[in-house]
Amino acid sequence: MFHLISKFDNFMKNLVVLGSTGSIGISTLDVVRKNKKFFKVEALIANTNYQLMIDQYEEFRPSFIYLANNEARKSFLENVRNLDKTTTVLSSEDEITSILGSEDVDIVIAAIVGFAGLKPVYNSLLNGKQVLLANKESYVVAGEFLNKITKESNSTIFPIDSEHSAIHQCLQGIESNESVSRLILTGSGGPFLRRDIADFASITPDEAIAHPVWSMGKKISVDSSTMMNKCLEIIEARWLFDIKEIDVIIHPEGIIHSLVEFNDNSVIAQLSMPDMKIPIAHALGFPEKITSGVEKLNLAQIGNLSFEEPNLQKFPAIRLAEECLKEGGSSFTILNAANEVCVDAFLEGKIGYLDIHKIISKVLDKSHITDVKEVEEFFEVDKKSRYETNAIIAVN
Ligand code: NDP
Repeated sequence: MFHLISKFDNFMKNLVVLGSTGSIGISTLDVVRKNKKFFKVEALIANTNYQLMIDQYEEFRPSFIYLANNEARKSFLENVRNLDKTTTVLSSEDEITSILGSEDVDIVIAAIVGFAGLKPVYNSLLNGKQVLLANKESYVVAGEFLNKITKESNSTIFPIDSEHSAIHQCLQGIESNESVSRLILTGSGGPFLRRDIADFASITPDEAIAHPVWSMGKKISVDSSTMMNKCLEIIEARWLFDIKEIDVIIHPEGIIHSLVEFNDNSVIAQLSMPDMKIPIAHALGFPEKITSGVEKLNLAQIGNLSFEEPNLQKFPAIRLAEECLKEGGSSFTILNAANEVCVDAFLEGKIGYLDIHKIISKVLDKSHITDVKEVEEFFEVDKKSRYETNAIIAVN
């Protein structure tokens, strides 16, 4: 009889969770909680949420804790009870870098939001770690560069983003990307799919973060509403799978997470309930399947799955992917920096909803695109682009 040799026979991996207090971090720890015999949490890294970090510390007892925000770190130390002698509360980013280089770490879950995630992702890859990537911004900015580091250091980047996880699953058993004719990324369409474009100017931050299908952090929720999220995902898919033909289709039910079309015109899709614990469990357990804790898909109950073309007039952000992929170089960093600054400004009430796209386009038009070859250059371009975006916001 065929006997499957389980990779779980000797499977125990040490994890670092970057962004443990965020939406993806919490879902990751939920999957870990359901698969305790396979994973040990070595380090938890976050920014401000010290109360949740205390709860996570008490449950998972990691060897290292880091909160980037000084006040939060102080509050953590003042409020935590029973801090083990074996636990170190790190006090600088440099100390994280050395943890990411430690032999005790196997897998790094990259779930910090935004460009702030680039440095730890870069250092993890440089140290040969397996990076499970949710932090799409770092990879959009520096995808080609990070792929080169990955090859040189024998590390791996494994997608957590649901669309890219779906594509990864659809590609199992396919040996050459020449068999693929097209990647088809699905998107639910966000909260304004049916809203009249004439009403877009009055959209408020609360409306923009209320996603109809996914429960996520604020930044990605705003990106989903403008469909900048799809723009970032097209670029992410381009770097991850080295395939140029990438289309987007709107699928409001959020059940099909993406599709791959092959040369014979057959199409493979991946389906599940819309819950990030599915792609997280896929990434943590690959090539086996581990428990996700997500409810089973009941297609009869769902009834209909619908599809439509994206409306590029309403959601022009999708087009910026093509423009940046044509320009290359620093255009990705400029796009990302301008978007992060605009999303923050919108959430703080400093600019209107329609200003987000207007200002990003202005920054891209004004900027001189250069080659970016060293890691420091990404930080320089990011800083300059943030400055320029803020300058435009100030006179808006
Ligand atoms: P959240 O805003 O919910 O969480 C962000 C996390 O990053 C928090 O733990 C936050 O800490 C931490 N953080 C922020 N800045 C720093 C910093 N400078 N140093 C250390 N930690 C920091 O975001 P999400 O979980 O929604 O998203 C995380 C990433 O995953 C994003 O790149 C997003 O695009 C991607 N993603 C998210 C999906 C989702 O469903 N949420 C789906 C696919 C991709 P604190 O809370 O303590 O301040």
